[in-house]
Amino acid sequence: AAGGAPLLSLDGIGKRFRGVIAVRDVSFSVPDRAVVGLIGPNGSGKTTLLNIVNGVLSPDQGEIRLGGAATTGRRPSDLAALGITRTFQAARVFRTLTAMQNLFVPLLHQRALDRGPARRRAADLLAFVGLERHADRVASELSGGQQRLLEFARTLVTRPRIVLMDEPFAGVHPQIKTTLVRCIRETVAQEGASFLIVSHEVPDLVAMSDQMVCLVEGAVAARGLPAEVIAQEKVIDGYLGR
Ligand code: ADP
Repeated sequence: AAGGAPLLSLDGIGKRFRGVIAVRDVSFSVPDRAVVGLIGPNGSGKTTLLNIVNGVLSPDQGEIRLGGAATTGRRPSDLAALGITRTFQAARVFRTLTAMQNLFVPLLHQRALDRGPARRRAADLLAFVGLERHADRVASELSGGQQRLLEFARTLVTRPRIVLMDEPFAGVHPQIKTTLVRCIRETVAQEGASFLIVSHEVPDLVAMSDQMVCLVEGAVAARGLPAEVIAQEKVIDGYLGR
């Protein structure tokens, strides 16, 4: 929202593993209702940053804020309750559960009273990603791309404020990619959620992002409008290699 605090802000984040500096003094923010694309070469710290934002790792320096409140050092389960969810490079689904049952998993810790509307939402979300015909199939029988759509739908069940996605398009059929991009943009428009998306598929990310950030060697090399970011010399030299 114009003028308000950003939804998510990273301020001076640093992280090292023994001798290796993985992330150095990273600051940027994710606005409300926005898609932010995070690019950079292998080893530039993208996954480490996602792990810090959702509480899997603690930063050595810096502060994370969600809606203005510090969340630095809080556990992933607490952050999930505050509205931060995540998808993974290899889609994580419960293979022996049906597609529909997969969407109930995030609801298991809710009070029974709340579950009726939540179950309707689960059914709506399955239709939203185009898997309604597969509701009763066990997840292991779905294709890799369908499992990715299922994982995506599951992240939305609890109405997150921000979804972190790690390489959502890697190895998926173009048709699934199109569906995923459409679902992401519609989730922003209809539910007001934001996304922070790591991907090597730069043209796709440029097309779907409101803003982009490029990391090189753990530091922010450029950030801003997608077309501006990919035109910067530091980004071309440090990542795109043209
Ligand atoms: P990217 O996601 O951009 O490929 P990563 O965040 O995975 O980059 O890695 C950034 C740097 O941190 C790399 O040099 C990587 O080897 C190092 N690194 C990441 N995780 C660990 C870890 N758990 N232990 C040691 N080094 C790590």
